[in-house]
Amino acid sequence: MNILVINCGSSSIKYKLYDARQERELAGGLIERIGEAEGHTMHQVGGKKYERNNRIPDYDAGIAQIIDLLTSCGDPPPIETPADIAGGGHRVVHGGESFSDSVLVDDTVLAAIDQCSDLAPLHNPANLAGIRATMNVLAGKPQVAVFDTAYFQTMPPEAYHYAVPYAWYEKHRVRRYGFHGTSHKYVAGKAADLLGRAKPNLITLHLGNGCSMTCIRAGEAIDQSMGLTPLEGLVMGTRSGDLDAAIVFYMMSQGLSADDVRRGLEKESGLQGLSGVSRDLRDVMGAAGEGNARAALAIDVFAHRAKKYVGAYLAELGTCDAVVFTGGIGENSSDMRKGIVEGLAPLGIELDESLNAGRSREPLRISTDASKTAIWVIPTNEELMIARDTVRLIS
Ligand code: ADP
Repeated sequence: MNILVINCGSSSIKYKLYDARQERELAGGLIERIGEAEGHTMHQVGGKKYERNNRIPDYDAGIAQIIDLLTSCGDPPPIETPADIAGGGHRVVHGGESFSDSVLVDDTVLAAIDQCSDLAPLHNPANLAGIRATMNVLAGKPQVAVFDTAYFQTMPPEAYHYAVPYAWYEKHRVRRYGFHGTSHKYVAGKAADLLGRAKPNLITLHLGNGCSMTCIRAGEAIDQSMGLTPLEGLVMGTRSGDLDAAIVFYMMSQGLSADDVRRGLEKESGLQGLSGVSRDLRDVMGAAGEGNARAALAIDVFAHRAKKYVGAYLAELGTCDAVVFTGGIGENSSDMRKGIVEGLAPLGIELDESLNAGRSREPLRISTDASKTAIWVIPTNEELMIARDTVRLIS
């Protein structure tokens, strides 16, 4: 059963075609600069790359191009006709309080996603456009929406409420939702298998350009570091994460507009803002190694913030079976992993430095045998999770 997994950004489409029964990736690619004078497409199949530079006016044209590439590139192409695709799975960033699981798309679901657009104005409209385009191009094929927020709908009220006027919640839906749910759910499931426990207590860290942590009790998410939007929580590539909300109106009193402050906190903060070097941890670490003090500071602030959350989540859990690292930083940076869990041995979290230095595309345990809480590195696979949910719902 072939499933097309689609992740639409504000001017891009990432896609993968899966043989979902075998959990095998058949092809994939990225279309960028949708709506611009010239778009760019990079398609991969069977170890070969195909590039196209042509105008992609809208998402319908983008999806049509994906189908054309899937049916024409490769030796032989992975599918002969669009009819060989059983359905589509779509990443949707914000599901508000409406969705606690993935769903088959119908008109009610489309309307509910649209209603969440003011909570995620950069993402939901693009996600919606991608679903509609796939429905147009693959007429009659079922489509499934997989929400970044759904996994966190098990959070109890004391975790998801902000202590703000209650009317802000009732009238404006101001609460913590949590994001990166597909990734946290995937690695939590893997960790449960590896630990041989159906319902473990876990702390999962997804550290990429966006960074978030989840506190999982007996297999259910009970807290998450991201909030109303993905801006809250950990230090990220360009996002500030947690801050005193008064900074917003203080900086406005200093002459910045609301848009200036938003741009500052979303695009010019985090590793980028502190280091002044890059949002990419590899560059920041390189600069720190050459003696750049602000780059070193950025790394320290990043690790300090994550460590603080580990402590908070340990307190929520009482006992924790495993701390799990994933995402580009979590999977690849042994130095950052060390910075985050260093000094936690008295709390039962003890890193084995030689295991931590190892590299693997498979899950890797990096704690000592004596560590009460295991530490694992588990590569994430959000697209596979979306393909699995799609199969579950359309079967
Ligand atoms: P996204 O959130 O965009 O999917 P990724 O999960 O790919 O991003 O993570 C990107 C981050 O991972 C970047 O900060 C990058 O520097 C970091 N990263 C990737 N490989 C390494 C590495 N070997 N060492 C340190 N950081 C790394």
